[in-house]
Amino acid sequence: MPHILIVEDEAAIADTLIFALQSEGFTTTWLSLAEQALAEQQRNPADLLILDVGLPDISGFEACKRLRRFSEVPVIFLTARSEEIDRVVGLEIGADDYVVKPFSPRELAARVKAILKRMAPREAPAASPASGPFQLDIERVQIHYHGQLLSLTRHEFRLLQSLLAQPERVFSREQLLDGLGVAADVGYERTIDSHIKSLRAKLRQVAAEAEPIQTHRGLGYSYSPRHA
Ligand code: CA
Repeated sequence: MPHILIVEDEAAIADTLIFALQSEGFTTTWLSLAEQALAEQQRNPADLLILDVGLPDISGFEACKRLRRFSEVPVIFLTARSEEIDRVVGLEIGADDYVVKPFSPRELAARVKAILKRMAPREAPAASPASGPFQLDIERVQIHYHGQLLSLTRHEFRLLQSLLAQPERVFSREQLLDGLGVAADVGYERTIDSHIKSLRAKLRQVAAEAEPIQTHRGLGYSYSPRHA
């Protein structure tokens, strides 16, 4: 069963989380300090972290940044209304979702399930000759472009993988977001646009003149082998 690490300094909140998650069959560890959680994740990695933003030692944001130096484990932020975060900021730091307090523990458990399901290895499409100058290595989570290894975030990798799988297909932002395992709600368009922007910048470093990711105004994005 998946193991969930809860990082929350309020015992009452942690208790309801532990109860909700354990009734869904998850095992849990509860810690109240970010530093402890980072050490624990290195020693004994959980399958998903629920990370409070307002922690007594370092903030959940800072903790997530440090976590991303060694782990791609999914993270759900817990935030109080007073520290409401910009969804884009949260996702750029590398969180997979966030929940604003007070929240329904059941709803949170459902989101945990959904994220873990999306993270599960899926039947990856084999790299087809149609990927043109792109070479996908699903096992290593790597993409080469014109022979050069791209340094991609997890979200950028998923995004490019979705686009490459179906050349010339126009994906809506919602469809792309779904491929990232992120729920579509307020601000999702900006989220996708900011990932596309950073992805394009990385592609341009390899081939300045090419424009493999095409924008379709009002519709979304596509991969065009003709422009790669
Ligand atoms: Ca707190």
